[in-house]
Amino acid sequence: MGLASCLLFLHLHNELTVTHKMLRLSLARTLSPIRHGLAHLSKAAPFSTSPLRSLMGTTGFTETQLTVREAVSQICANFPNTYWQEHDQTEQDPTDFHAALAKAGWLGIALPESLGGAGLGISEATMMMQTIAESGAGMAGAQSIHANVYATQPLAKFGTPDQLKSTIPNIISGKWRVCFGVTEPNAGLDTLRLSTTATKTPDGQNYLIKGQKIWITCAQVASKMILLARTTPLSQVKKASDGLSLFCIPLDKSHPGLEMKRIKKLGGRAVDANEVFFDNYPIPADSLIGEEGKGFKIILHGMNAERCLLAGEALGLGYAALGKAAAYARDRTVFQRPIGMNQGIAHPLAECYMNLEAAKLATYHAARLYDEASKSQSEEGKSIRMDEIGVACNSAKYLAAEAAFKACERAVLTHGGMGYAVEFDVERYFRECLVPRIAPVSREMILNYVAERVLQLPRSY
Ligand SMILES: Cc1cc2nc3c(=O)[nH]c(=O)nc-3n(C[C@H](O)[C@H](O)[C@H](O)COP(=O)(O)OP(=O)(O)OC[C@H]3O[C@@H](n4cnc5c(N)ncnc54)[C@H](O)[C@@H]3O)c2cc1C
Repeated sequence: MGLASCLLFLHLHNELTVTHKMLRLSLARTLSPIRHGLAHLSKAAPFSTSPLRSLMGTTGFTETQLTVREAVSQICANFPNTYWQEHDQTEQDPTDFHAALAKAGWLGIALPESLGGAGLGISEATMMMQTIAESGAGMAGAQSIHANVYATQPLAKFGTPDQLKSTIPNIISGKWRVCFGVTEPNAGLDTLRLSTTATKTPDGQNYLIKGQKIWITCAQVASKMILLARTTPLSQVKKASDGLSLFCIPLDKSHPGLEMKRIKKLGGRAVDANEVFFDNYPIPADSLIGEEGKGFKIILHGMNAERCLLAGEALGLGYAALGKAAAYARDRTVFQRPIGMNQGIAHPLAECYMNLEAAKLATYHAARLYDEASKSQSEEGKSIRMDEIGVACNSAKYLAAEAAFKACERAVLTHGGMGYAVEFDVERYFRECLVPRIAPVSREMILNYVAERVLQLPRSY
């Protein structure tokens, strides 16, 4: 039984009175066999030897992170590369993959135990997302659950008890899927200029949503959208970041005020991405998360966490591609010797490995800072500066995305012509590896951020 399912099991059996101590004991029991297994593996070889852990050095991770990696990889093993090839080709949602993770409790990994989650941190959630991508599921597998793990964070922190009771258990159990609606065609990365509005009806019972979102992943299969919309016009607020509100809205696809158009895309084709049109679409007033007009601040809270998750997903994809490339370079014989004997093949692969390892350190450092800051928030004098976390999380996302891109590109080139063939998987990884460079924030905007905040250079936009 996985860690999350172990904790979920306790909840499902209504052991809500279980003390922290008992949870720790159950955690220790879950960890114990896996810890011994990992200790054995690490004695046998400096690097793990199972297909999933073939490359990444695991030294320095916590016991809990390694437990997560082990348990999630066991579930992913039921969804081999052929599954993802097929779903990519047919553009069919990986519904059973999402269901398998939900069934084992993993969707609640970073949600509080009081809500039925596992109560772990972003360090563990990042490891989960990395493990999924690394298993061969790539960005498609990660994106099929990404919003359920990440977009639920602001809801869990700022939602009312009623909101939490009615939504979180359904999301953790997999009954409801969630999408995240921020990007708009006319605002792009300038989020504060988004123009979708939410206007309260005179009776105060509903808001009417009007506007358009774009690139909304999983909107076709989601029952709920975490939506950012303007409740006060830009011209009437002191700061552009005021007047935006966050909602957890039902997606009633039969309503004439809601329309979706699936976007044909380069990679991750198993998961849908959409244009979403709202035309006076009514939502209940109690869909509002937190205070009206404070939505931007609320999502800022989770943005650093999302950078870490994306970095983990990029790392997973990069290690998967590099593993395939190294295996091919060992096996493929041309000019009567393995191609990996040529330094023109071997050296770029070695460089990719070092880039990934460096990005891995940056990623888990950022996740640790994020988690430590969350824990120490209430303890006076102990808090880690938010700008330090922002720089660490953005840098990690940038470095992991770049390392993954190089590894995926090199994996295709190492395969020669076969790098172009679906059955070797690296073409799929290559198509997918551009996403972490673009979303949720582009590489250029991260460079802008570091130039401005760290180097104190003038703002360029
Ligand atoms: C596969 C995929 C899934 C996605 N899923 C979701 C989702 O579920 N929910 C959601 O809300 N969004 C989603 N997105 C949207 C994603 O977050 C945006 O595409 C991303 O934030 C970039 O915004 P944009 O596409 O509007 O680019 P634009 O803002 O149009 O930028 C275009 C280019 O110009 C550059 N640029 C713009 N301004 C500057 C500047 N000042 N300095 C330097 N360069 C600049 C950018 O870096 C970029 O290279 C997804 C995108 C993709 C591709």
